[in-house]
Amino acid sequence: MVRRLADGGLVRHEPYRGVTLTDEGRLKALGVLRRHRILETFLVERLGYRWDDVHLEAERLEHAVSERLIDRMEEALGRPATDPHGAPIPTRAGMIAASPNRTLDQAPAGRRIVVRAVPDRDPRRLAELEAIGLVPGAVAVVQGESREPPGVLVRMAEGDQEHAITRRVASTVLVAEA
Ligand SMILES: [Zn+2]
Repeated sequence: MVRRLADGGLVRHEPYRGVTLTDEGRLKALGVLRRHRILETFLVERLGYRWDDVHLEAERLEHAVSERLIDRMEEALGRPATDPHGAPIPTRAGMIAASPNRTLDQAPAGRRIVVRAVPDRDPRRLAELEAIGLVPGAVAVVQGESREPPGVLVRMAEGDQEHAITRRVASTVLVAEA
């Protein structure tokens, strides 16, 4: 059936990688995401930008750069899987890795979690998360609810410090089991 759909131009079948939709809108959207995330990664990794200072720059550049330049940047970066905020970078063919669907506020108490991704839009929030080490790859244990501020109490594996994260922020941090 996949072959038939592929012959009809509805999907593209890539050996060992599964099936990708050729839906033009989706591909276009993924193309913009790809450019944005590669630009952010390049700015941080190669040009020394801080991770809280790249979003606007990437938004400006993402509509101007050529696919050729993006491909060269990706190559130079060693084909990174994620951007500096942990978001997966779509492939040229429009494949994108699934993100975890659990957020920090939903993580059960006592469980070790690893931070996978944080939102990239708010520079102040990014600076705050960085200050307490709540960055992609960081391991932590959720201690339970925090009262002041209302949210979750998190103990970072690195540094062994406890931090209260507001529910509003915790609901935007993607986590997986460590
Ligand atoms: Zn961004």
